[in-house]
Amino acid sequence: MRERPAKDFGFDTRAIHAGQRPEPYTGARAVPIFQTTSYVFEDPDSAAAYFNLQEYGNTYSRIMNPTTAVFEERVANLERAAGGVAFASGLAAQAACFFTMLTPGDHVVSSAALYGGSITQLKHLQRKLGFAITFVDPDDLDQWRSALRPDTKVLFGETIGNPGGNVLDIEAVARIAHEHGAPLMIDSTFATPYLCRPIEWGADIVTHSATKFIGGHGTSIGGVAVEAGTFDWSNGRFPVVADPSAAYHGLAFHETFGVYGYLMKLRAESLRDLGACMSPFNAFLFLLGLETLPLRMRRHVENATAIASWLERQPGVTNVRYPGLPSSAYAPLVRKYLPLGAGAIFSFDLPSGREAGRRFIESVTLWSHLANVGDAKSLIIHPATTTHRQLSDDELAAAGIGAGTIRLSVGLETADDLIDDLATALKEVRATSGAAARSESGSRVKTNG
Ligand SMILES: *Cc1c(COP(=O)(O)O)cnc(C)c1O
Repeated sequence: MRERPAKDFGFDTRAIHAGQRPEPYTGARAVPIFQTTSYVFEDPDSAAAYFNLQEYGNTYSRIMNPTTAVFEERVANLERAAGGVAFASGLAAQAACFFTMLTPGDHVVSSAALYGGSITQLKHLQRKLGFAITFVDPDDLDQWRSALRPDTKVLFGETIGNPGGNVLDIEAVARIAHEHGAPLMIDSTFATPYLCRPIEWGADIVTHSATKFIGGHGTSIGGVAVEAGTFDWSNGRFPVVADPSAAYHGLAFHETFGVYGYLMKLRAESLRDLGACMSPFNAFLFLLGLETLPLRMRRHVENATAIASWLERQPGVTNVRYPGLPSSAYAPLVRKYLPLGAGAIFSFDLPSGREAGRRFIESVTLWSHLANVGDAKSLIIHPATTTHRQLSDDELAAAGIGAGTIRLSVGLETADDLIDDLATALKEVRATSGAAARSESGSRVKTNG
Protein backbone atom coordinates (compact mmCIF):
# COMPACT_ATOMS: atom_id res chain seq x y z
CA MET A 1 0.00 0.00 0.00
CA ARG A 2 1.27 3.43 -0.89
CA GLU A 3 1.89 5.64 2.10
CA ARG A 4 0.06 8.89 2.05
CA PRO A 5 2.39 11.84 2.47
CA ALA A 6 1.94 13.48 5.84
CA LYS A 7 -0.20 16.47 5.02
CA ASP A 8 -0.22 19.49 7.23
CA PHE A 9 -3.80 20.67 7.23
CA GLY A 10 -4.64 24.35 7.43
CA PHE A 11 -5.56 26.00 10.72
CA ASP A 12 -9.27 26.23 9.85
CA THR A 13 -9.37 22.49 9.04
CA ARG A 14 -7.57 21.54 12.25
CA ALA A 15 -9.87 23.80 14.32
CA ILE A 16 -12.76 21.59 13.16
CA HIS A 17 -11.19 18.11 13.03
CA ALA A 18 -8.04 17.81 15.14
CA GLY A 19 -8.20 15.33 18.00
CA GLN A 20 -11.42 13.64 16.93
CA ARG A 21 -12.39 10.52 15.05
CA PRO A 22 -16.13 9.80 14.77
CA GLU A 23 -17.18 7.76 17.77
CA PRO A 24 -16.83 4.07 16.72
CA TYR A 25 -19.90 2.56 18.44
CA THR A 26 -22.53 4.97 17.17
CA GLY A 27 -20.83 6.84 14.33
CA ALA A 28 -21.79 10.15 15.94
CA ARG A 29 -20.19 12.95 13.90
CA ALA A 30 -20.31 15.56 16.67
CA VAL A 31 -18.10 14.93 19.71
CA PRO A 32 -20.36 13.09 22.20
CA ILE A 33 -20.62 14.43 25.74
CA PHE A 34 -19.29 11.60 27.91
CA GLN A 35 -21.13 12.67 31.04
CA THR A 36 -19.64 9.98 33.26
CA THR A 37 -17.51 10.10 36.37
CA SER A 38 -15.83 6.74 35.84
CA TYR A 39 -15.11 3.88 33.42
CA VAL A 40 -15.52 0.12 33.77
CA PHE A 41 -12.10 -1.60 33.69
CA GLU A 42 -11.56 -4.48 31.25
CA ASP A 43 -9.91 -6.58 33.99
CA PRO A 44 -7.91 -6.11 37.22
CA ASP A 45 -4.56 -6.09 35.39
CA SER A 46 -5.44 -3.22 33.07
CA ALA A 47 -6.92 -1.33 36.03
CA ALA A 48 -3.60 -1.71 37.86
CA ALA A 49 -1.65 -0.63 34.76
CA TYR A 50 -3.76 2.54 34.46
CA PHE A 51 -3.24 3.45 38.10
CA ASN A 52 0.51 2.83 37.82
CA LEU A 53 0.59 5.03 34.67
CA GLN A 54 2.01 2.03 32.78
CA GLU A 55 -0.86 2.26 30.34
CA TYR A 56 -2.92 5.26 29.35
CA GLY A 57 -6.60 4.69 30.06
CA ASN A 58 -9.67 6.31 31.53
CA THR A 59 -10.11 5.88 35.26
CA TYR A 60 -11.97 8.85 36.71
CA SER A 61 -13.16 12.12 35.09
CA ARG A 62 -11.26 14.38 37.48
CA ILE A 63 -8.11 13.20 35.68
CA MET A 64 -9.32 12.47 32.16
CA ASN A 65 -12.52 12.25 30.13
CA PRO A 66 -12.99 11.36 26.44
CA THR A 67 -14.89 14.59 25.58
CA THR A 68 -12.36 16.76 27.39
CA ALA A 69 -9.53 14.78 25.74
CA VAL A 70 -10.70 15.87 22.27
CA PHE A 71 -10.63 19.50 23.43
CA GLU A 72 -7.13 19.07 24.90
CA GLU A 73 -5.82 17.38 21.73
CA ARG A 74 -7.35 20.05 19.51
CA VAL A 75 -5.88 23.01 21.40
CA ALA A 76 -2.47 21.25 21.53
CA ASN A 77 -2.65 20.69 17.78
CA LEU A 78 -3.58 24.33 17.06
CA GLU A 79 -0.78 25.58 19.34
CA ARG A 80 1.81 23.14 17.86
CA ALA A 81 2.28 21.63 21.34
CA ALA A 82 3.05 18.05 22.42
CA GLY A 83 -0.17 17.86 24.42
CA GLY A 84 -2.52 19.69 26.71
CA VAL A 85 -4.52 19.48 29.93
CA ALA A 86 -7.89 21.20 30.42
CA PHE A 87 -8.92 22.88 33.67
CA ALA A 88 -12.00 24.37 35.30
CA SER A 89 -10.81 27.93 34.52
CA GLY A 90 -7.91 29.89 33.10
CA LEU A 91 -6.65 30.69 36.58
CA ALA A 92 -6.83 27.00 37.54
CA ALA A 93 -4.66 26.19 34.50
CA GLN A 94 -2.08 28.80 35.52
CA ALA A 95 -2.07 27.73 39.18
CA ALA A 96 -1.57 24.09 38.20
CA CYS A 97 1.29 24.94 35.83
CA PHE A 98 3.13 26.85 38.57
CA PHE A 99 2.29 24.18 41.16
CA THR A 100 3.84 21.50 38.92
CA MET A 101 7.23 23.20 38.52
CA LEU A 102 7.76 25.34 41.65
CA THR A 103 8.81 24.47 45.19
CA PRO A 104 8.96 26.82 48.19
CA GLY A 105 11.89 29.23 47.90
CA ASP A 106 11.77 29.37 44.09
CA HIS A 107 11.62 32.64 42.18
CA VAL A 108 9.35 33.73 39.31
CA VAL A 109 9.90 36.65 36.92
CA SER A 110 6.63 37.96 35.55
CA SER A 111 5.45 40.74 33.29
CA ALA A 112 3.72 43.47 35.32
CA ALA A 113 1.20 44.03 32.51
CA LEU A 114 -1.04 41.07 33.25
CA TYR A 115 -4.75 40.41 33.48
CA GLY A 116 -5.74 41.79 36.93
CA GLY A 117 -6.83 38.38 38.23
CA SER A 118 -3.43 36.92 37.33
CA ILE A 119 -1.58 39.58 39.32
CA THR A 120 -3.78 38.91 42.33
CA GLN A 121 -3.31 35.17 41.90
CA LEU A 122 0.48 35.43 41.72
CA LYS A 123 0.70 37.70 44.77
CA HIS A 124 -1.60 35.40 46.75
CA LEU A 125 0.13 32.16 45.68
CA GLN A 126 3.47 33.74 46.49
CA ARG A 127 2.46 34.22 50.11
CA LYS A 128 0.71 30.85 50.40
CA LEU A 129 3.29 28.72 48.64
CA GLY A 130 6.41 30.58 49.69
CA PHE A 131 7.96 31.56 46.38
CA ALA A 132 9.19 35.00 45.34
CA ILE A 133 8.15 37.10 42.31
CA THR A 134 9.73 40.01 40.52
CA PHE A 135 7.38 41.97 38.26
CA VAL A 136 9.04 43.62 35.26
CA ASP A 137 8.07 46.02 32.49
CA PRO A 138 7.47 43.46 29.71
CA ASP A 139 8.77 45.86 27.02
CA ASP A 140 12.20 46.16 28.66
CA LEU A 141 14.39 43.12 27.89
CA ASP A 142 17.07 44.38 30.29
CA GLN A 143 14.56 44.21 33.14
CA TRP A 144 13.74 40.57 32.30
CA ARG A 145 17.46 39.77 32.25
CA SER A 146 18.46 41.63 35.40
CA ALA A 147 15.53 40.18 37.41
CA LEU A 148 16.93 36.64 37.01
CA ARG A 149 18.23 34.95 40.17
CA PRO A 150 19.93 31.58 40.64
CA ASP A 151 16.59 30.20 41.88
CA THR A 152 14.46 31.70 39.03
CA LYS A 153 12.41 28.78 37.70
CA VAL A 154 10.03 30.34 35.18
CA LEU A 155 9.41 33.54 33.20
CA PHE A 156 5.76 34.48 32.66
CA GLY A 157 4.02 36.99 30.40
CA GLU A 158 1.06 37.55 28.09
CA THR A 159 1.14 37.66 24.29
CA ILE A 160 -0.94 40.85 24.41
CA GLY A 161 -0.85 42.49 27.85
CA ASN A 162 -3.47 44.31 29.84
CA PRO A 163 -4.45 47.21 29.76
CA GLY A 164 -1.72 48.79 27.59
CA GLY A 165 -1.89 46.28 24.74
CA ASN A 166 1.82 45.47 25.25
CA VAL A 167 2.91 42.91 22.65
CA LEU A 168 5.58 40.67 24.12
CA ASP A 169 8.81 40.03 22.22
CA ILE A 170 8.32 36.30 22.82
CA GLU A 171 11.39 35.11 20.92
CA ALA A 172 13.72 37.45 22.83
CA VAL A 173 12.22 36.62 26.26
CA ALA A 174 12.33 32.87 25.44
CA ARG A 175 16.04 33.22 24.67
CA ILE A 176 16.66 34.96 28.02
CA ALA A 177 14.72 32.20 29.82
CA HIS A 178 16.52 29.35 28.07
CA GLU A 179 19.99 30.84 28.63
CA HIS A 180 19.06 30.64 32.31
CA GLY A 181 17.75 27.05 32.08
CA ALA A 182 14.17 28.19 32.79
CA PRO A 183 11.01 27.72 30.73
CA LEU A 184 8.92 30.57 29.32
CA MET A 185 5.20 30.37 30.13
CA ILE A 186 2.77 32.52 28.15
CA ASP A 187 -0.87 33.38 28.80
CA SER A 188 -2.09 33.72 25.21
CA THR A 189 -5.79 34.27 25.99
CA PHE A 190 -6.05 37.63 24.16
CA ALA A 191 -4.33 36.30 21.01
CA THR A 192 -5.84 32.78 20.75
CA PRO A 193 -3.90 30.16 18.75
CA TYR A 194 -5.36 31.63 15.57
CA LEU A 195 -3.49 34.95 15.89
CA CYS A 196 -0.27 33.76 17.56
CA ARG A 197 1.36 30.46 18.50
CA PRO A 198 3.98 31.29 21.15
CA ILE A 199 5.57 27.82 20.94
CA GLU A 200 6.68 28.62 17.37
CA TRP A 201 8.71 31.48 18.93
CA GLY A 202 10.30 29.46 21.72
CA ALA A 203 7.71 29.48 24.52
CA ASP A 204 7.47 26.23 26.49
CA ILE A 205 4.06 26.40 28.17
CA VAL A 206 0.99 28.24 26.85
CA THR A 207 -2.18 28.75 28.86
CA HIS A 208 -5.59 30.05 27.84
CA SER A 209 -8.68 31.20 29.62
CA ALA A 210 -11.05 29.28 27.31
CA THR A 211 -13.76 31.40 28.95
CA LYS A 212 -12.90 34.14 26.44
CA PHE A 213 -12.46 33.80 22.66
CA ILE A 214 -12.16 29.98 22.61
CA GLY A 215 -15.65 29.58 24.05
CA GLY A 216 -16.50 32.80 22.31
CA HIS A 217 -20.07 33.29 23.50
CA GLY A 218 -19.73 34.12 27.19
CA THR A 219 -21.33 30.87 28.36
CA SER A 220 -18.70 28.86 30.24
CA ILE A 221 -15.63 29.15 32.45
CA GLY A 222 -12.69 26.96 31.47
CA GLY A 223 -8.96 26.89 30.89
CA VAL A 224 -6.27 24.86 29.19
CA ALA A 225 -2.48 24.50 29.36
CA VAL A 226 -0.31 23.05 26.59
CA GLU A 227 3.40 22.29 26.59
CA ALA A 228 5.90 22.16 23.75
CA GLY A 229 7.64 19.04 25.08
CA THR A 230 11.08 20.41 24.20
CA PHE A 231 12.22 21.93 27.51
CA ASP A 232 14.91 19.92 29.32
CA TRP A 233 13.33 19.36 32.73
CA SER A 234 16.32 17.12 33.57
CA ASN A 235 18.78 20.04 33.46
CA GLY A 236 19.32 19.72 37.21
CA ARG A 237 17.18 22.72 38.14
CA PHE A 238 13.81 20.91 38.34
CA PRO A 239 14.05 17.98 40.74
CA VAL A 240 10.32 18.50 41.35
CA VAL A 241 9.64 17.39 37.75
CA ALA A 242 12.59 15.09 37.09
CA ASP A 243 13.14 13.18 40.36
CA PRO A 244 11.30 9.98 41.35
CA SER A 245 7.76 10.76 42.53
CA ALA A 246 6.77 9.40 45.92
CA ALA A 247 3.13 9.60 44.78
CA TYR A 248 3.78 6.99 42.05
CA HIS A 249 6.18 4.50 43.70
CA GLY A 250 9.31 6.31 42.56
CA LEU A 251 8.24 7.00 38.97
CA ALA A 252 10.56 9.60 37.34
CA PHE A 253 8.19 11.55 35.07
CA HIS A 254 10.69 13.20 32.72
CA GLU A 255 12.81 10.07 32.24
CA THR A 256 9.79 7.78 31.79
CA PHE A 257 7.57 9.94 29.58
CA GLY A 258 10.13 12.05 27.71
CA VAL A 259 8.40 14.89 25.85
CA TYR A 260 5.22 14.14 27.85
CA GLY A 261 6.96 14.24 31.25
CA TYR A 262 5.76 17.66 32.37
CA LEU A 263 2.28 17.11 30.92
CA MET A 264 1.91 13.75 32.69
CA LYS A 265 2.96 15.36 35.97
CA LEU A 266 0.53 18.23 35.34
CA ARG A 267 -2.32 15.75 34.87
CA ALA A 268 -1.49 12.77 37.08
CA GLU A 269 -0.34 14.83 40.07
CA SER A 270 -1.43 18.48 39.84
CA LEU A 271 -4.88 18.02 38.29
CA ARG A 272 -5.44 14.97 40.47
CA ASP A 273 -4.52 16.86 43.66
CA LEU A 274 -5.91 20.34 42.94
CA GLY A 275 -9.03 18.81 41.39
CA ALA A 276 -10.00 21.77 39.20
CA CYS A 277 -11.03 19.71 36.17
CA MET A 278 -13.12 20.86 33.20
CA SER A 279 -16.61 19.39 32.97
CA PRO A 280 -17.31 17.31 29.84
CA PHE A 281 -20.24 19.59 29.00
CA ASN A 282 -17.99 22.67 29.03
CA ALA A 283 -15.43 20.80 26.91
CA PHE A 284 -18.23 20.18 24.38
CA LEU A 285 -19.09 23.90 24.32
CA PHE A 286 -15.41 24.88 23.95
CA LEU A 287 -15.09 22.42 21.03
CA LEU A 288 -18.03 24.14 19.35
CA GLY A 289 -16.22 27.42 19.98
CA LEU A 290 -12.99 26.16 18.42
CA GLU A 291 -14.80 25.12 15.22
CA THR A 292 -15.58 28.76 14.43
CA LEU A 293 -12.57 30.37 16.15
CA PRO A 294 -10.80 31.36 12.88
CA LEU A 295 -13.99 32.87 11.40
CA ARG A 296 -14.80 34.75 14.56
CA MET A 297 -11.27 36.04 15.13
CA ARG A 298 -11.12 37.43 11.59
CA ARG A 299 -14.30 39.38 12.28
CA HIS A 300 -13.22 40.41 15.82
CA VAL A 301 -10.02 41.87 14.33
CA GLU A 302 -11.86 43.60 11.48
CA ASN A 303 -14.34 45.25 13.88
CA ALA A 304 -11.65 46.18 16.43
CA THR A 305 -9.50 47.78 13.71
CA ALA A 306 -12.46 49.80 12.40
CA ILE A 307 -13.42 51.01 15.89
CA ALA A 308 -9.87 51.81 17.01
CA SER A 309 -9.20 53.81 13.82
CA TRP A 310 -12.48 55.67 14.25
CA LEU A 311 -11.78 56.43 17.94
CA GLU A 312 -8.31 57.72 17.08
CA ARG A 313 -9.93 60.41 14.92
CA GLN A 314 -12.41 61.61 17.56
CA PRO A 315 -11.74 64.86 19.42
CA GLY A 316 -11.84 64.24 23.18
CA VAL A 317 -10.35 60.74 22.85
CA THR A 318 -6.69 60.08 23.63
CA ASN A 319 -4.36 57.09 23.92
CA VAL A 320 -6.19 54.55 21.77
CA ARG A 321 -4.06 51.59 22.84
CA TYR A 322 -4.90 49.11 20.08
CA PRO A 323 -1.61 47.50 19.08
CA GLY A 324 -3.07 46.82 15.64
CA LEU A 325 -3.07 50.55 14.74
CA PRO A 326 -0.25 51.60 12.39
CA SER A 327 0.50 54.41 14.90
CA SER A 328 1.08 51.92 17.75
CA ALA A 329 4.58 51.60 19.22
CA TYR A 330 3.98 47.83 19.01
CA ALA A 331 3.41 47.83 15.23
CA PRO A 332 6.75 46.09 14.45
CA LEU A 333 6.06 43.36 17.06
CA VAL A 334 2.51 42.97 15.72
CA ARG A 335 3.91 42.42 12.20
CA LYS A 336 6.17 39.69 13.57
CA TYR A 337 3.98 37.88 16.10
CA LEU A 338 0.40 38.81 15.14
CA PRO A 339 0.36 39.15 11.34
CA LEU A 340 -3.36 38.29 11.19
CA GLY A 341 -4.32 40.96 13.71
CA ALA A 342 -3.83 42.18 17.27
CA GLY A 343 -7.04 40.81 18.77
CA ALA A 344 -10.09 42.78 19.83
CA ILE A 345 -9.46 44.01 23.38
CA PHE A 346 -8.04 47.48 23.99
CA SER A 347 -8.48 50.64 25.99
CA PHE A 348 -8.59 54.37 25.36
CA ASP A 349 -8.80 57.50 27.53
CA LEU A 350 -11.37 60.20 28.05
CA PRO A 351 -9.36 63.15 29.35
CA SER A 352 -12.00 64.47 31.74
CA GLY A 353 -11.49 61.60 34.19
CA ARG A 354 -13.72 59.43 36.39
CA GLU A 355 -16.94 61.36 35.87
CA ALA A 356 -16.55 61.30 32.07
CA GLY A 357 -15.84 57.57 32.18
CA ARG A 358 -18.94 56.96 34.27
CA ARG A 359 -21.09 59.09 32.00
CA PHE A 360 -19.75 57.30 28.90
CA ILE A 361 -20.65 53.87 30.30
CA GLU A 362 -24.12 55.10 31.26
CA SER A 363 -24.70 56.36 27.73
CA VAL A 364 -23.94 53.26 25.66
CA THR A 365 -26.84 50.92 24.94
CA LEU A 366 -25.52 48.23 22.57
CA TRP A 367 -22.26 47.59 24.47
CA SER A 368 -22.73 45.49 27.63
CA HIS A 369 -21.24 46.89 30.83
CA LEU A 370 -19.59 43.90 32.47
CA ALA A 371 -16.30 42.33 33.56
CA ASN A 372 -15.49 39.85 30.81
CA VAL A 373 -13.78 39.84 27.42
CA GLY A 374 -13.78 37.75 24.25
CA ASP A 375 -17.53 37.40 23.74
CA ALA A 376 -19.46 37.58 20.45
CA LYS A 377 -21.22 40.50 22.15
CA SER A 378 -19.35 43.80 22.51
CA LEU A 379 -18.34 44.55 26.10
CA ILE A 380 -17.27 47.72 27.87
CA ILE A 381 -15.93 48.59 31.31
CA HIS A 382 -14.60 51.63 33.14
CA PRO A 383 -11.86 50.21 35.42
CA ALA A 384 -11.65 53.31 37.69
CA THR A 385 -15.25 52.85 38.89
CA THR A 386 -15.38 49.02 38.79
CA THR A 387 -12.46 46.55 38.79
CA HIS A 388 -9.98 49.15 40.10
CA ARG A 389 -12.32 51.40 42.11
CA GLN A 390 -10.35 51.01 45.36
CA LEU A 391 -7.30 52.67 43.82
CA SER A 392 -6.39 56.35 44.04
CA ASP A 393 -5.62 58.24 40.82
CA ASP A 394 -1.88 57.79 41.55
CA GLU A 395 -2.26 54.05 42.09
CA LEU A 396 -4.31 53.83 38.90
CA ALA A 397 -1.54 55.58 37.00
CA ALA A 398 1.00 53.07 38.36
CA ALA A 399 -1.21 50.27 37.00
CA GLY A 400 -1.22 52.00 33.60
CA ILE A 401 -4.89 52.97 33.95
CA GLY A 402 -6.17 56.53 33.82
CA ALA A 403 -9.21 57.83 35.70
CA GLY A 404 -10.92 58.12 32.31
CA THR A 405 -9.68 54.84 30.79
CA ILE A 406 -12.37 52.77 29.06
CA ARG A 407 -11.71 49.15 28.07
CA LEU A 408 -13.48 47.59 25.11
CA SER A 409 -13.84 43.98 24.02
CA VAL A 410 -15.07 44.34 20.46
CA GLY A 411 -17.68 41.75 19.45
CA LEU A 412 -19.11 40.50 16.19
CA GLU A 413 -22.00 42.93 15.65
CA THR A 414 -22.22 45.29 12.65
CA ALA A 415 -19.29 47.68 13.12
CA ASP A 416 -21.36 50.75 12.17
CA ASP A 417 -23.86 49.99 14.94
CA LEU A 418 -21.06 49.73 17.50
CA ILE A 419 -19.53 53.00 16.29
CA ASP A 420 -22.90 54.81 16.34
CA ASP A 421 -23.39 53.77 19.95
CA LEU A 422 -19.93 55.02 20.94
CA ALA A 423 -20.51 58.27 19.02
CA THR A 424 -23.72 58.93 20.98
CA ALA A 425 -21.91 58.30 24.27
CA LEU A 426 -19.05 60.61 23.28
CA LYS A 427 -21.55 63.36 22.45
CA GLU A 428 -23.14 62.89 25.89
CA VAL A 429 -19.76 63.17 27.61
CA ARG A 430 -18.88 66.30 25.64
CA ALA A 431 -22.25 67.87 26.44
CA THR A 432 -21.93 67.15 30.18
CA SER A 433 -18.29 68.18 30.49
CA GLY A 434 -19.06 71.28 28.36
CA ALA A 435 -21.92 72.15 30.76
CA ALA A 436 -19.67 71.47 33.76
CA ALA A 437 -16.95 73.70 32.29
CA ARG A 438 -19.50 76.47 31.63
CA SER A 439 -20.93 76.36 35.16
CA GLU A 440 -17.40 76.29 36.56
CA SER A 441 -16.34 79.36 34.56
CA GLY A 442 -19.66 80.98 35.52
CA SER A 443 -18.99 80.45 39.22
CA ARG A 444 -15.46 81.73 38.77
CA VAL A 445 -16.87 84.91 37.24
CA LYS A 446 -19.15 85.21 40.25
CA THR A 447 -16.41 84.81 42.87
CA ASN A 448 -14.10 87.06 40.95
CA GLY A 449 -16.85 89.64 40.72
C1 LIG B 1 -9.98 35.86 32.02
C2 LIG B 1 -8.52 35.76 31.93
C3 LIG B 1 -7.80 34.90 32.78
C4 LIG B 1 -8.48 34.08 33.85
O1 LIG B 1 -9.31 33.12 33.28
P1 LIG B 1 -10.61 32.52 34.04
O2 LIG B 1 -11.14 31.56 33.05
O3 LIG B 1 -11.51 33.67 34.34
O4 LIG B 1 -10.07 31.87 35.28
C5 LIG B 1 -6.43 34.86 32.66
N1 LIG B 1 -5.79 35.61 31.74
C6 LIG B 1 -6.45 36.43 30.90
C7 LIG B 1 -5.68 37.23 29.92
C8 LIG B 1 -7.83 36.53 30.96
O5 LIG B 1 -8.48 37.37 30.14
